[in-house]
Amino acid sequence: MSRSASLTAQRRLTRSVNVGNIVVGGDAPISVQSMTNTDTRDIAATTRQILELAEAGADLVRVSCPDEEAAINVKQLVENSPVPLIADIHFDHKLALIALDGGIHCLRINPGNIGSKERVAEVVQAASARRVPIRIGVNAGSLDKDLLAKYGEPCADAMVESGLKHIRILEDLNYQEIKISLKASSVAMTVEAYRKLANLVDYPLHLGITEAGGMLPGSVKSAIGLGLLLSEGIGDTLRVSLSANPVEEVRVGFEILKTLGLRTRGVNIISCPTCSRQEFAVIDVVAKLEKRLAHISESVNLSVIGCIVNGPGEAKECHVGLVGGGGENLLYLNGKPFEKVADNNLVSRIVDEVEIAARNIRDREQQEIENS
Ligand code: SF4
Repeated sequence: MSRSASLTAQRRLTRSVNVGNIVVGGDAPISVQSMTNTDTRDIAATTRQILELAEAGADLVRVSCPDEEAAINVKQLVENSPVPLIADIHFDHKLALIALDGGIHCLRINPGNIGSKERVAEVVQAASARRVPIRIGVNAGSLDKDLLAKYGEPCADAMVESGLKHIRILEDLNYQEIKISLKASSVAMTVEAYRKLANLVDYPLHLGITEAGGMLPGSVKSAIGLGLLLSEGIGDTLRVSLSANPVEEVRVGFEILKTLGLRTRGVNIISCPTCSRQEFAVIDVVAKLEKRLAHISESVNLSVIGCIVNGPGEAKECHVGLVGGGGENLLYLNGKPFEKVADNNLVSRIVDEVEIAARNIRDREQQEIENS
């Protein structure tokens, strides 16, 4: 019961790198990342948030390492984490070495910003020995002074040049386990920069619109910026940056990929915008369902529609469907009418049936694995 076709062009051909057990690039699924916003010196709080992010579906989680104590904690965090971790490091190469010693799966570090050639070589050697990739993260807000002088202001060309400069430093050290991001808070600048870089290198690209704002504007900017690039086949991993709980970043990231037909995860709720024809409180029911179904990772299609205008048509295409009907709402299972449900029982009946549908999908997938 697949509802979505891909809206995207053929994926850009890239090399791939391994971040722990997650492959980024090549034909690997586009991975979804987020970043903790706890104090990395607080192991318990950071572990809790990593677990929440993993539970929400994050394939990779980044933690910042602003000082030695945070970098030392990487070892414990890696042990506690069910998903590979990326250490975010600026300026201080020693922190990168400590994080590598702690078993970090990837470094986000700009080699041009950590001092002398010897220091860069030391980090690259240590990363190389452990096959740990490096993500070069260019940000329009922190471009080098010489580039700003050359271009006059942050722009896509300056970002691309910055990315190429960092790439060259690593390539000169014979190191090619590279991912790159070119993030700006301007969607247009970000998209232009990624398009240009995609034509110049074949390293996997980490997509993101930086400092995108709160939940609503940040989600819209990210959906448009990342959506444009992904629809052109550009992008191998992504982070949606929001001034919000990082768990929301993961949810929005998956919604973008789901909408483009690039990945499936969790319940796809199709619900109507409501109008005076609605036969039950659609908005309230959908809000409750979103919370109660957040734990489901299987791709279940669910329609929740206020009346018979569009309800039966949508329900026929879904695993579980509900059509409003004046106190006698009609529940559909696998496209067929199944039973009438009273208003006060809607949420719990739908949750039960979605859980059953998820279990069936899981069992079927397990069976397919055993048969293959
Ligand atoms: Fe209104 Fe029915 Fe359309 Fe929902 S499906 S918006 S209730 S007409």
